[in-house]
Amino acid sequence: MLLSSSAALAQTSGVYDYAIVGAGVFGTWIARNLHLAGQRVVLIDQYGPANNRASSGGETRIIRMGYGDREIYTQFSWRALELYKQFYAKLDPTLFQETGFLWLVRPGDTYAASNLPVFDRLKIPYEKLDTTALRKRYPQIELGPITWGLYEPNAGGLLARRGVQTVVRETVRQGLAYRQASIVSRQGTTLKTDAGDSISAGTVIYACGPWLRKLFPDVLGKKINPTRQEVFYFGAPADGSFRAPKMPAWIDAGDTIYGLPDIENRGFKLAPDQHGVTVDPDTQERLVPATSVARVREYVKRRFPKLANAPLTQTEVCQYENTANGDYLIDRHPGEKNVWLVGGGSGHGYKHGPALGEYVAGILLKNKEIDPRFLLAAKPDIAAHGRHSTIPPPEKK
Ligand SMILES: Cc1cc2nc3c(=O)[nH]c(=O)nc-3n(C[C@H](O)[C@H](O)[C@H](O)COP(=O)(O)OP(=O)(O)OC[C@H]3O[C@@H](n4cnc5c(N)ncnc54)[C@H](O)[C@@H]3O)c2cc1C
Repeated sequence: MLLSSSAALAQTSGVYDYAIVGAGVFGTWIARNLHLAGQRVVLIDQYGPANNRASSGGETRIIRMGYGDREIYTQFSWRALELYKQFYAKLDPTLFQETGFLWLVRPGDTYAASNLPVFDRLKIPYEKLDTTALRKRYPQIELGPITWGLYEPNAGGLLARRGVQTVVRETVRQGLAYRQASIVSRQGTTLKTDAGDSISAGTVIYACGPWLRKLFPDVLGKKINPTRQEVFYFGAPADGSFRAPKMPAWIDAGDTIYGLPDIENRGFKLAPDQHGVTVDPDTQERLVPATSVARVREYVKRRFPKLANAPLTQTEVCQYENTANGDYLIDRHPGEKNVWLVGGGSGHGYKHGPALGEYVAGILLKNKEIDPRFLLAAKPDIAAHGRHSTIPPPEKK
């Protein structure tokens, strides 16, 4: 059982400084930071922390530093990596696996190269690999049009669902109030649960990932689009060639697909990065159609021929909660001073959990400034924008 202590189930009626709705990676790390800063905090989730409908509920997520010229995200990654390692060291070091991360780059792709000045400035280690080095190090990758690789040795895979559940369990052990309930209505900062009781707080933070638009259709109807995303695991050979250190996490942006090596014997993971159709996270079915499997198999045959006949051993269906340009949303509700909206992870938010929690706590408790990119006013309407992948184009021309 995730939360076995009586503290977890303790009655959470009463008044809190902060109520956080949503125990995904964002809400959980915000709750932890506020709780450790001495605030009275309650964390609430309808289906449970990192549940199998939530965006944070998958097996694994990549942490990489490269964000092109969007340096703030590189800084978040670097800080989050430090915080993840620190936090997991005592509790369960397997929750971060340092597999490295490999950008597979082809002619005309300027994004990977745009990371280099940022890495140099922030002293983030990397290696540039030409095709000879790539073939020698990764003989299981058929390079095709790929002309070089950018390798981040400190990057890797985070155990997503287990990670969030560990943070909640540990913070509850340290006194955080956690409540499993659906918030069905609200009046200012007083929340009504599906069980009919109320929870009151000085400030309410909605960190509801792909549900945010459903909860705030007037404000976020055109700003966050939850799209269906599919994930595939193929049975890896017994020789370890698809496990770290022989195989890193990787992205092949030219084919709009990325993946992770075999972690915890779950298989070799591939995740197409094109945005799927708009979905409702409560009701979408999690079955993967044969056409999607065939498309991924065709790619696997081409890029990882050794896996051409590998069995598909597992699939996941999740959703990205996309803003039009991939920037997160961190802002007050435009009509309610003590209500905050945090989300828009846009297919890349998991890695930043601890850094984002620290950042949001700094805004709330120390009056730190919000980078303008995170404000609601900086979010273009989804319909007017053609973005369709996690790797955005460079910002500066
Ligand atoms: C297939 C896939 C691959 C990805 N790969 C990566 C990756 O490699 N690296 C990376 O960094 N990121 C990745 N991401 C993105 C990342 O997982 C998300 O950005 C992140 O998990 C979003 O977290 P969240 O806390 O905002 O939302 P969620 O995890 O969805 O949490 C929101 C929570 O709010 C709760 N909630 C909603 N409404 C209510 C209500 N009314 N009452 C109570 N609770 C409510 C829900 O139950 C849910 O638990 C990936 C995402 C997907 C889908």
